[in-house]
Amino acid sequence: MKAFQLTRPKDNAQAIAATAKTKTAQQGADIRFIAGGTTLIDLMKLSVEQPQNLVDVNRLALDKVEATPDGGLTIGATVRNSELAWHPLVRKNYRVLSEAILSGATVQIRNMATTAGNLLQRTRCMYFRDTAMPCNKREPGSGCGAINRNLAILGTSEQCIATNPSDMNVAMAALEATVHVHGPKGERAIPIGDFHVLPGNTPQRETVLEPGDLITHVTLPPPAPGNRSLYLKLRDRMSYEFALASAAVVITAANGKITRARIAMGGVGTKPWRSTEAEGELTNQQATQAVFQKAAEAALRGAKPQSQNGFKVELAKRCLVHALKLVTQPA
Ligand SMILES: Cc1cc2nc3c(=O)[nH]c(=O)nc-3n(C[C@H](O)[C@H](O)[C@H](O)COP(=O)(O)OP(=O)(O)OC[C@H]3O[C@@H](n4cnc5c(N)ncnc54)[C@H](O)[C@@H]3O)c2cc1C
Ligand code: SF4
Repeated sequence: MKAFQLTRPKDNAQAIAATAKTKTAQQGADIRFIAGGTTLIDLMKLSVEQPQNLVDVNRLALDKVEATPDGGLTIGATVRNSELAWHPLVRKNYRVLSEAILSGATVQIRNMATTAGNLLQRTRCMYFRDTAMPCNKREPGSGCGAINRNLAILGTSEQCIATNPSDMNVAMAALEATVHVHGPKGERAIPIGDFHVLPGNTPQRETVLEPGDLITHVTLPPPAPGNRSLYLKLRDRMSYEFALASAAVVITAANGKITRARIAMGGVGTKPWRSTEAEGELTNQQATQAVFQKAAEAALRGAKPQSQNGFKVELAKRCLVHALKLVTQPA
């Protein structure tokens, strides 16, 4: 790992000023914020990331989970994943978020990992993490030799087929979270669906963040009255493993009829994959196997599998159907 300088700013303004000088907030940044370090330090050890300066955000006052006056939730950027998953308001009102976080990594990693760091965790594509291999995301224009069963089937491009690996992000997408950013030009609120970007011709660019942009917090809208939610993750083993396919479902139903549906999928998309198509198939329909199947077909309609990950199309459909069955069955 290359030598780096560490600074510990006292407040947001100092942190933003210290990182605003970086040439990019994307792959190859020469100055980076550091929170739990569970993504960044790994990548620095592998020489995939080589920032010369790290700006520690852990002492900033960004570590609170609080109810908002409208009944929603504010989650500070440095709130640890464990604390968030077990917070009473999250357990009560946003079950899908708690389940998604607890399905990821290990207790030790969740105790270190933060909300902002999780939003920005990098792909687990093994070619990205191996500097001996070409990779358009790591080195634009070097090529992409990735053929692997773990890679994405939705939102891919000629340049890159890497998945967004986060479980938390999938729940955040189904809950319609907003990411709040403070940067050199002021503050802005970014809907989660606009925060991550598709790879297209610039896979090195993963989010809309610019140099100096500090994530300060994430907000969740008030829970839809009477909703039930659930996260289902399918993977090769029960712990310490990323999703092959996952589904976050937030459903309101009355007398067996679905009145509101929010659906997002993980393990299959190049970004956390909200499916408004599936939501459309579910809304104002009876909660039946046939309707769930239609929703799953709609969610995966645009899938473009590669030679080794074709199984994900069927796996993701079954994952969504089963999640819908579980969330709508009588309590
Ligand atoms: C062995 C292992 C298994 C794992 N398994 C899973 C899994 O199953 N599911 C899953 O979802 N995740 C998994 N993870 C990933 C883990 O959830 C992430 O590493 C973690 O959430 C990152 O958070 P962090 O605070 O440590 O981020 P850091 O490593 O500190 O930072 C990550 C990125 O975020 C940026 N950053 C941090 N804070 C801010 C801020 N406030 N504003 C702007 N930028 C910021 C940093 O500059 C960096 O680029 C696993 C990780 C490991 C090591
Ligand atoms: S899929 Fe994306 S991250 Fe993986 S090697 Fe290809 S360009 Fe790199």
